[in-house]
Amino acid sequence: IWITFEGGDGSGKSTQAALLASWLGERGRAVLQTREPGGSEVGVLIRDIVLHHRGDIAPRAEALLYAADRAHHVETVVRPALERGEVVIQDRYLDSSVAYQGAGRVLDAIEVRDLSLWATGGALPNLTVLLDIEPAQARRRLDADDKPFDRLEAEKEEFHTRVREAFLALAAAEPQRFLVVDATADPEDIAVLVRARVSTLL
Ligand code: C5P
Repeated sequence: IWITFEGGDGSGKSTQAALLASWLGERGRAVLQTREPGGSEVGVLIRDIVLHHRGDIAPRAEALLYAADRAHHVETVVRPALERGEVVIQDRYLDSSVAYQGAGRVLDAIEVRDLSLWATGGALPNLTVLLDIEPAQARRRLDADDKPFDRLEAEKEEFHTRVREAFLALAAAEPQRFLVVDATADPEDIAVLVRARVSTLL
């Protein structure tokens, strides 16, 4: 079983991924927790490039770098874990590319999605949890937690608004794959909703 978490920066993806991983672990499931970009050794190098050169990589080059990270990650980390019967819990996947490289950088959404599907041989998760939050609120939350929001600062408000709208459109187009939750709710309450949906897959 493969579960991905999606959402804007500061939406609480890593918190929810960790809560779900420990819940599954307590139930005796073997869990692999991973992320994109940077879920493999090669991916860590690619993450370094894309994050340190945000805004100054040609949009198509950026899309290809994310796709390269994803191709290697799926081939060397995700697929082997799924074949071993593990539950893979992943922070970001192709929906992030459609939202960030597509809507954010204004590339064609279908082309970005097709690129990603080509990169991974069409691999899609069983469930994608979208943590939905208004960008301004996410920014305030990161600030209140004393977390650096330099990544958010790297882009303008409209960029993050486009990203959020793209995520919501993706979820609306594939309701059977997505669970959309209000990321401003209490983290424990969100975790309960996620567990309920994941239980139907186990
Ligand atoms: O969620 P995480 O901290 O790993 O994301 C790293 C950064 O990369 C975030 O600021 C996110 O906006 C950006 N990103 C992106 N395109 C993707 C995935 C992540 O621009 N496909």
